[in-house]
Amino acid sequence: MKCFCGDRAVFYRRFEGVHLCREHFLKSVEKRVRKTIRTSKLLEEGDRIAVGISGGKDSLLTLYLLDKIAKGRNIKLQAILIDEGVRGYRPKGKMKAKKFCKAHGILLTTASFKEEYGRTLDRIVKGRKDKSLKACTYCGVFRRNLLNKTARKLKANKLAIGHNLDDEAQSIMANHIRGDLLRQVRIGAKALVVEDKRFIPRIKPLRDIPEKETALYVMLKGINADFSECPYAEESFRWEIRHLINRLEDKYPGTKYSIVRSLDRLLPTLKKSFRGARIGTCKKCKEPSSSEICKVCLLRKEIQDNNKV
Ligand code: SF4
Repeated sequence: MKCFCGDRAVFYRRFEGVHLCREHFLKSVEKRVRKTIRTSKLLEEGDRIAVGISGGKDSLLTLYLLDKIAKGRNIKLQAILIDEGVRGYRPKGKMKAKKFCKAHGILLTTASFKEEYGRTLDRIVKGRKDKSLKACTYCGVFRRNLLNKTARKLKANKLAIGHNLDDEAQSIMANHIRGDLLRQVRIGAKALVVEDKRFIPRIKPLRDIPEKETALYVMLKGINADFSECPYAEESFRWEIRHLINRLEDKYPGTKYSIVRSLDRLLPTLKKSFRGARIGTCKKCKEPSSSEICKVCLLRKEIQDNNKV
């Protein structure tokens, strides 16, 4: 098949029915990322952006494109890697992340579950008594907390993450099924519901790029990213949602965009109900929390109890 320019196509965008050659495919991804950044005002002069990376394709692509876009502007970029402590998985990503940052002259700061919470994720999972608590529950809560704290220490005013269109559609569906409106209003290219200087606002430049396209971009550009899957991923609720949405997308191309766009239309109304909402402070750790004791402290306590003989 041929691209509209006459060159050999490397990609077929099914829901639009267009074939694209290497050059036009790469350009189309960059154009959409720039559009997301522009329309959602993700970047401003003077920004100090921390990019949360794992060494995987989406986070390295986020860093690669932000580095490209920030060149020549008064925007400082640095990277943060959270080592959850998953044997056979995280070390590979960490090595690739380090190599990438070194090659691009980007400062990389590493923080780990072991140092912060006293245990690796593998040990936490091994010691859990309540098997209904999945690895991703601990991981999601601790990683968000540690990323935010580390970005704050680095005096970043924004935290960029590599969420792509698939991730965004999965989050929306999961929040919808759980009836979690507070999380639903946090969805968006710039995610901050409650103004609180302890929270570093999150930005998602890849929000409009499907996962298949982030993978192809990374391969075509020869970015040395880790493509492996976390061994705990299959036990998560998100895994089920991911497969469900992928099946729908196969049958009805454009489903992922529709899920995200539908929420985008609802968001202004939803946000009104949370306007003026204030976040409290966790009694134990003094971090922002919507309940007396935050989820991090609750999980920490649970881990300690699990390890009492
Ligand atoms: Fe953490 Fe779950 Fe992602 Fe693995 S799949 S890195 S456990 S959130």
